[in-house]
Amino acid sequence: MHGGSLRSEFGETSEALFLTQGYVYDSAEAAEARFKGEEPGYIYSRFSNPTVAMFERRMAELEGAEAARATATGMAAVTASLMGQLKAGDHVVAAKALFGSCRYVIEELLPRFGVQSTLVDGTQLEAWRAAVRPETKVFFLESPTNPTLEVLDIAAIAAIARDAGAKLVVDNVFATPMLQSPLQLGADCVVYSATKHIDGQGRCLGGVILASDKFIADHIHTLLRQTGPSISPFNAWVMLKGLETLPLRVRQQTENARLIADALASHPAVARVLYPFRDDHPQVAVARRQMRGGGTLVTFEVAGGKAAAFRVANALRIIKISNNLGDAKSLVTHPSTTTHQRFEEHQRLGMGITQGMLRVSAGIEDAEDLIEDLISALDGV
Ligand SMILES: *Cc1c(COP(=O)(O)O)cnc(C)c1O
Repeated sequence: MHGGSLRSEFGETSEALFLTQGYVYDSAEAAEARFKGEEPGYIYSRFSNPTVAMFERRMAELEGAEAARATATGMAAVTASLMGQLKAGDHVVAAKALFGSCRYVIEELLPRFGVQSTLVDGTQLEAWRAAVRPETKVFFLESPTNPTLEVLDIAAIAAIARDAGAKLVVDNVFATPMLQSPLQLGADCVVYSATKHIDGQGRCLGGVILASDKFIADHIHTLLRQTGPSISPFNAWVMLKGLETLPLRVRQQTENARLIADALASHPAVARVLYPFRDDHPQVAVARRQMRGGGTLVTFEVAGGKAAAFRVANALRIIKISNNLGDAKSLVTHPSTTTHQRFEEHQRLGMGITQGMLRVSAGIEDAEDLIEDLISALDGV
């Protein structure tokens, strides 16, 4: 609520929105001193801005990180966290269950600059170990994964990375800062799409990179300044407002997701429910060890494939069809025809994504209303 506040001389309650590109100086000498770094202060909003600085400081305190840098989008954060560390000849190991754009960066973009990658089944620790090469510099993963909600053992993978002399970057979007702290589990860098739960109300795009002061200084600071994927001060201000209710929303969304998962599991039209804190989840032990809650997403499989899944999605009245997640409004996604549409069917099946699969991002509505919406849609099939 209060971390990083920079209150102006007017004593405003809410954080001020400094919608400015640049700054003026009292004298030519003052400008010179600021550019030389002899006097503190802002120079240009591509580098830093008071509203953005408040958002970065507050994120760092929430995550328990020394430093944070905000970016225009989650993908800008992911891309900078990788590009900032890698050069031609290096190698990356990543879990194959990744957000589609992250997979593009690792599988298609990095190789164009001479960085090779190996994709592994992230749940198999042996696979991470076996993929290591002398030139391996970075491990990358997300957990829980999208959309099958696999849970990867962050502490164990961090230990393998450390032995290999590689840095572990964790995309913590699905868990949010409230439910999982990868830096405390041994990760070197955490990235967020602030677009998701941090805004949480469907308004602005944004991203954050969190790490030690040294990691940010060595790998991130200059790259961001010189290449310019900066967040708008306006968007950073919206994210600050989002952070004020993040714990409340994530608590309610997680409780709703848990209740939805249990209600779905007993419906005859549901073949399978995936929720990290349910006892039938394949990695429930890891989830309970490293997460403070099961998360805000539930994935389930409707018996009857794509046609049945579409009938369920189309019959929902409160829960809206969208590819987004983390919103205060409940959303439903059919991954195989949207977020994972660009893959071949055999690749999707390799990731555990079936035609009958639906992913629900639980919102903050009344849980009974959401369950009634889902159950009556399922009764229709
Ligand atoms: C949405 C998302 C991203 C990308 O974030 P944008 O803000 O859309 O660029 C990256 N990783 C995960 C897991 C996401 O859900």
